Amino acid sequence: MSGAPAHWSPLAAVAARAPHELLSWLAEPGLLTARVRALCGPAMGFRRLGVLREAPLSSALRERLRVDDADCLLRDVEFCVSGARVVFAQTVLPASTLDRYPWLRELGDSPLGEALREVDEPLEREPLEYAELPAGHPLAAAARDSADGGLLWARRAVYRLGGFPILVQEVFLPELLRAQAAARLHHEDHTMTADTLPFAVPRPTVGITGSAARFPVHRIYCVGRNYAAHAREMGSDPTREPPCFFTKPADAVVANGAAVRYPPRTSNLHHEVELVVAIGKGGRQIPVTEALEHVFGYAVGNDLTRRDLQSHAKDNGLPWDVAKGFDHSAPISAIRPVTDGGHLSSGRIWLEVNGQARQDANLTELIWSVPEVVAELSTMFELQPGDLIFTGTPAGVGAVERGDSIVAGIDGLDTLRTTIV
Ligand code: MN
Repeated sequence: MSGAPAHWSPLAAVAARAPHELLSWLAEPGLLTARVRALCGPAMGFRRLGVLREAPLSSALRERLRVDDADCLLRDVEFCVSGARVVFAQTVLPASTLDRYPWLRELGDSPLGEALREVDEPLEREPLEYAELPAGHPLAAAARDSADGGLLWARRAVYRLGGFPILVQEVFLPELLRAQAAARLHHEDHTMTADTLPFAVPRPTVGITGSAARFPVHRIYCVGRNYAAHAREMGSDPTREPPCFFTKPADAVVANGAAVRYPPRTSNLHHEVELVVAIGKGGRQIPVTEALEHVFGYAVGNDLTRRDLQSHAKDNGLPWDVAKGFDHSAPISAIRPVTDGGHLSSGRIWLEVNGQARQDANLTELIWSVPEVVAELSTMFELQPGDLIFTGTPAGVGAVERGDSIVAGIDGLDTLRTTIV
């Protein structure tokens, strides 16, 4: 490409000059789409700008991509948050790559990464490179953003599909910095680079339906006594005792289909099927009327409970942690994003053990609806992207034993399957 040069470098070479929190955040493995969506939740939009257009392939790019092609096709897309552009992305498809993969012309509005992962050909990605784009750089001009200071940060990646190159260049517009800055304080509190950690701690994640991206779990909140019939079966009066909140550790999540070892120190392990709300946008003091804007998606969860320890805690005025927050106590299905299936306020919620019905109710029976739960919880905690909220279980809870097969569902969501071993 012509115009003012950009010096593309590894992250280590630019980190000292770059807005640190932005680049460290974007340098993590994984897709930009998933990172921006996790930050901005359902407010994020993805849109193709115009059609594929032909352009000459500069000698610098020919050299970088190791091709002889004189021409390429450009595909421009943008990410928006609440209408404001946060990322401009350009895909460069050399002519020889298009000759080999003509379907790349038909991508439409779908993210490139998702299309590439469905191809049955070897796909490799070369290390990410970063650069500060001068205002005159063609990529900065294509992003059509003056960026007050005249400089824009960008990164690029070369994918090799069956050996043929595809270049993805992403320009981070100033609005992304502002959206990210809103979460910066929190991230600075909790993010350390791998260099300063004595050992690695895995980050718990949950699958997202229809996507290879995963939902990073920040915290797990749970609601107790949110269906009247269940409150009564537990000996409470739902007209006198309102729903209550408790928590589980983030790494209590168990993937759909995985086995759960029968936990120690109990002889009365109970199942509790629950609608799980996944938070995509944080906030405090969220009004009920705005609560759904903070929801990323929904899943089916099982709030496994050591009931004997919970009864003992209740009888003795002790905390519920050991009864609720034990290892592997939160099996959960993949999260269905709101963008794929909308919100849930009704629908059957059910659970079977070894094929026998145990719980069968409807989400309409929730004492506190999803918006009310989100709003109430946000008066006690600052909600963050990555929070999960188990919204309470209907009547019919009961014991499970080693060897039992638990199958649970909610209309429109994946079926959750768990075996106790
Ligand atoms: Mn529960």
